[in-house]
Amino acid sequence: MRIAFIGLGNMGGGMAANQAKAGRQVAAFDLAAPALERAAAAGCAPAASVAEAVGDADAVITMLPAGPHVRKVYAEDILPHAPRSALLIDCSTIDVESARAVAEQAKTQGFRFADAPVSGGVAAADAGTLAFMVGCDEPDFADVEAVIQPMARAVIRAGDHGAGQAAKICNNMVLGISMIGVCEAIALAEKLGLDPERFFEIASKSSGQCWSISSYYPWPGPVEAAPSNRGYQGGFATAMMLKDLKLAQQAAAASGAATPMGAQAEGLYALFDRLGYGTKDFSGVLQMLRGRLDELQA
Ligand code: NAD
Repeated sequence: MRIAFIGLGNMGGGMAANQAKAGRQVAAFDLAAPALERAAAAGCAPAASVAEAVGDADAVITMLPAGPHVRKVYAEDILPHAPRSALLIDCSTIDVESARAVAEQAKTQGFRFADAPVSGGVAAADAGTLAFMVGCDEPDFADVEAVIQPMARAVIRAGDHGAGQAAKICNNMVLGISMIGVCEAIALAEKLGLDPERFFEIASKSSGQCWSISSYYPWPGPVEAAPSNRGYQGGFATAMMLKDLKLAQQAAAASGAATPMGAQAEGLYALFDRLGYGTKDFSGVLQMLRGRLDELQA
């Protein structure tokens, strides 16, 4: 299978490498030369342009920063140069409207298209253990899944075009809100003289239990793998969470959904980002809510 892989950044680099590792011919392109060099070292064939990469592809995968990049690359480079038989899969996290607009253009020109954003960070991209949420025509799903398989631990069809992006922003809105709820509870527990580690033991077995407690506790100690034990380094950057919450608010405004907690969460992460902590893991927002930013290195 010939894969064209466009966008070899933090996420795309590892994903393209896993396609090559699975024995596929990968023609890779990125605007940044170092990204292209890393892909070449991982067994991909560097291309001189998007047009060259997609020229004889069976499938085209894009992993780009945001909606405007995806719209531009599809309109100017992919749709005019890829063979109509190529299966087009966009794995970037973008707004639902852009995903539907690109799908419409691709379908009008006779292509099959899927939006397939991912859950899991750079470590999962490197390990080939991402979860994919797919929006595509039902008959195309089996082929989409086959292309994605070397990069995935789970591939789930969310629905038609745009549904993958909808699933991604709804899931991350839950995560963003629940983390702030947990951080507020820890800040209150501390003020009340309740040990946050003891609170973990209780809440993880009580009705407050959620992923932000049991797998990602923002207070250092109880969950060994959590970024709270590494000074909130790595993990899921606050700026990334903010991007996803902005997309959720944009979608809520466009669709008329009421998401007041999502709006509050966006505001709090925006403040944390504005204070200089955009590259810290989003669970570091605990230190802002405790009024202890001095415990964080900006
Ligand atoms: P990144 O900025 O590291 O990578 C994006 C790459 O796209 C860059 O290397 C850039 O040079 C390249 N690029 C931009 N315009 C291009 C063009 N016209 N042609 C070719 N290459 C171009 O970003 P990332 O962290 O890899 O994230 C990529 C996408 O994945 C984003 O939509 C992000 O929201 C999403 N995502 C990221 C994470 C994460 O933890 N980093 C997790 C889940 C989803």
